[in-house]
Amino acid sequence: MIKYSCRSQGDPGSTIFIYQKGCNQPLLMYLIIRCPGCHTFSYVDRYQQWKLCPRCGEAISVRQGPAYLEVEDYSVAEQIIRQLERYLDSTQKKELSSDEIAALRQQYADWIRSRI
Ligand SMILES: [Zn+2]
Repeated sequence: MIKYSCRSQGDPGSTIFIYQKGCNQPLLMYLIIRCPGCHTFSYVDRYQQWKLCPRCGEAISVRQGPAYLEVEDYSVAEQIIRQLERYLDSTQKKELSSDEIAALRQQYADWIRSRI
């Protein structure tokens, strides 16, 4: 039986879901974040505090910005970032709604569960 629970932390606008580790739970090491200046998606090691934006060079404070998703692997992070960029591009949106972020997290959680 895989335990898969999460709790939220902070205010709803920047909710970060902490996935509690069950027995086979992969460690979610990378956070998908977004540059507040140029809105480029990026990912960062969860223990890192700052990340220089690859596009505009702004120092992004990892703790302050919303984390869209926590993932286990940087290659997964890159994949999801490409999907997010395509999605925003095709829908002509500037930002994901909190419903969309929740759906994204749900999809990722389902995907992880399906692999175990
Ligand atoms: Zn930037």
